[in-house]
Amino acid sequence: MVSPGELRIIDELIPNGEYKPEISAEGTVSYPNVTQLLDDVDDDPADVLEHFATRGVLANEFVSKVYVCPECTTEGLQYTTVCSACGSAHAIETTVLEHVCGYAGPETEFDAADGYRCPDCEMDLESSDVDETDRYVCEECSEIFDIPDERLWCRECFSLFPPVDAIERVLYRYRLTADGEQWLDRQKDARQTIAEVLADRRFETEIDATVTDDGASRSVHVLAEDDLLDERRIVSIHETPDEERIDAFCAFANSIDAHPVVVTTSGAVEEGVAARADGSELTLLAYRENGAIETSYETVESADTHRQGFFQRLTAALEVPGKGQ
Ligand SMILES: [Zn+2]
Ligand SMILES: [Zn+2]
Ligand SMILES: [Zn+2]
Repeated sequence: MVSPGELRIIDELIPNGEYKPEISAEGTVSYPNVTQLLDDVDDDPADVLEHFATRGVLANEFVSKVYVCPECTTEGLQYTTVCSACGSAHAIETTVLEHVCGYAGPETEFDAADGYRCPDCEMDLESSDVDETDRYVCEECSEIFDIPDERLWCRECFSLFPPVDAIERVLYRYRLTADGEQWLDRQKDARQTIAEVLADRRFETEIDATVTDDGASRSVHVLAEDDLLDERRIVSIHETPDEERIDAFCAFANSIDAHPVVVTTSGAVEEGVAARADGSELTLLAYRENGAIETSYETVESADTHRQGFFQRLTAALEVPGKGQ
């Protein structure tokens, strides 16, 4: 199914548009143009884009990756080194002296008031007696080490964790594919055709209309009203209408006192949807390859199987003679 908001974001990409991720100073990723065009009932913009990429309507191009906190999912993590013994971040790279007696410590420990002296064996230092290196010294547990452990920390909840524990998010930019353009044309043609069919029957029609129900507004593909007869229809365009979405659509139609009309652009619907249409609570129509709207359609067990490689199946579905013709 494609929601009016989803159709809007795909349509916006014509002719050569693309959606780019934006990363805020806090590290939050967003697709502002998409957010603006989608309706409140639609899914998260990134999920919607990924969904259409999976279906081949959009092509995604890798941009970068961001990492989010495994505790609170805030983005924009900070890097820090920590003590390999106690895990404290208060481990600082400093000059460490190692005396011939075996004692090692930061340079400051050897700095006595009257010259340099080993704090352990108390011998005055000769330059040949000491080995000077840059190493990490932990201010919490006084451990000295060469290679600190690496951690990321969250500015929001302050948790500290190994980099591998951070949740990776991949950022893509999206553009319309050639298949997607065809798909879009087909959805829009179906929408236009059903609007014209309804207009021929003296309905006042509006495409991508907003309908308000008890203060909450919702978009529909087509709204058709006949004030004289006090009749109202709302239209939903689907590739393969599934029961769950059609149930929700019918419930909405009911709540605003409109008759629901569903147009399948694949020519097929789920069995449960067909059962509903057998009653009078729903008008089910098929948009054919030749641009005609017909009352015959095929049924499939589940629209889920229809979601992979739908272009092929679209073709296949259209080759099958319609049930009830
Ligand atoms: Zn330590
Ligand atoms: Zn010493
Ligand atoms: Zn966090």
